[in-house]
Amino acid sequence: MNSQFIKGKYHAGSTGESSPVLDPSNGETIAVLTAAGSDDVKLAVQAARDAFPAWSRATPAERSAVLTKFAALMAERAEEFAQLESRQAGKPIRLTREFDVPGTIDNIAFFAGAARNLEGKATAEYSPDHTSSIRREAIGVIGSISPWNYPLQMAAWKILPAIAAGNTIVLKPAEITPLTSLLFAEVATEAGLPAGVVNVLTGRGSTVGAELLRHPDVDMLSFTGSTGVGRTVLDAAATTAKRVHLELGGKAPFVVFEDADLEAAIHGAVAGSLINTGQDCTAATRAIVHRSLYEKFIAGVADLYSKVKLGPTQDPATDLGPLVSETHRDKVAEMVERARGYARVIGGGAPDDGDLAAGSYYRPTLVADATPDSEIFRDEVFGPVLAVTPFDTDDEAIELANDTPYGLAASAWTKDVYRALRATREIRAGAVWVNDHIPIISEMPHGGFKESGFGKDMSTYSFDEYTVVKHVMFDLTGVAAKPWHRTIFAPTEYP
Ligand code: NAD
Repeated sequence: MNSQFIKGKYHAGSTGESSPVLDPSNGETIAVLTAAGSDDVKLAVQAARDAFPAWSRATPAERSAVLTKFAALMAERAEEFAQLESRQAGKPIRLTREFDVPGTIDNIAFFAGAARNLEGKATAEYSPDHTSSIRREAIGVIGSISPWNYPLQMAAWKILPAIAAGNTIVLKPAEITPLTSLLFAEVATEAGLPAGVVNVLTGRGSTVGAELLRHPDVDMLSFTGSTGVGRTVLDAAATTAKRVHLELGGKAPFVVFEDADLEAAIHGAVAGSLINTGQDCTAATRAIVHRSLYEKFIAGVADLYSKVKLGPTQDPATDLGPLVSETHRDKVAEMVERARGYARVIGGGAPDDGDLAAGSYYRPTLVADATPDSEIFRDEVFGPVLAVTPFDTDDEAIELANDTPYGLAASAWTKDVYRALRATREIRAGAVWVNDHIPIISEMPHGGFKESGFGKDMSTYSFDEYTVVKHVMFDLTGVAAKPWHRTIFAPTEYP
């Protein structure tokens, strides 16, 4: 059964335990895998260990050639990836065809180029008696864990910089959305990636994930997921002092200053909050709006929200798909129900009749007058829910934007260049958009401040995570009694 991808081949999971994958738009089972266990973790880490010497010594051009072919093969199979991603994660097919899959192909193409551009300091005589040079080396075996919201893109963001830099990897995707990560590894292998460079283990986080994190032969942990589990990863890393890269939760502010283009801000807020049904760590979740525009902003967003079309994920006309699971939909619904007790809730609720009732759908929801200390304003909802609160002064807006433990992304809406500059400088987040919210690009880094984690995905900055810099120093004097030995031996005997 195609459940685990180890050393270039599919295997059944050693636990024999069934792990069904459901389509959240209708509850149908689309695949049944067998979960990985201890034996699979050992096999996969060993496969990655064995593949490391040759892959890390491959020339950048050789690694680049494999990635170039991989991008071409994935482009040929783009529709297969789009369908599978749509079904396992409940994404509208338009989203996977136009965003997840082309974005991933572009990422592969980017890292095919970046593999040949690892940079360091110039070799030089920083001391008159030595020549120093820098080697940027691969770290070894990466143990990586990814979430369910963008299964394909997250697998790509974890795998590509790691292998482009010469590492090997064992990835454990979220147990409810493992299918495109497996296919990704299969197609990479078809493109010529040596067996063992990329291995994928499927199963629960608390078992197979936890074991991968603590495996002594894993050199580095790279994790994308919630801040809570991120702390568990840090904890596990401490046992063998592993290097860690964490991409965690977010609660992005969307700040609309008094001079903003209101129509643009309304459209931006709707698209930025509903992308991927709001299950996006950078989604606009806290609209902080100047009091003079506040009610007009609420009316405009509510109007556009009411026009968004929920529908079957396979229909290209569908705007909004279901949430990833019933359990998650219930969590979102409960947070909104609690908000009804302290704020003005517009929209929301799950469709309970017709075809959509079988899926975990939830309607776009605006929560106006959410106070800065309320649950809906502070905690991750990870659904199609936008909380809105007013402000009076720019100081107050920036303070509200920063009043969160998270710091992944933010946006500022203004036509005033000084306001925009102040917002980009003072908001503590890994990305700040001006007059837009969401776009990402392979050349630019993605990663958080504060409890959103540390380290960068995408871009050449990600090589700082997946390589270690080594200083190599050559003696130039050729003498036994070197000048600096005067610090140890009597000066009279040394020059
Ligand atoms: P999660 O933290 O519940 O799970 C993420 C992964 O960790 C899954 O593969 C899961 O199986 C595994 N896991 C769970 N418990 C584990 C344990 N004890 N040991 C080892 N592994 C364990 O997150 P999720 O619900 O899948 O995803 C949503 C979260 O991910 C949100 O908080 C979101 O903000 C975050 N996210 C962040 C980014 C980013 O780039 N910063 C991107 C996407 C998602």
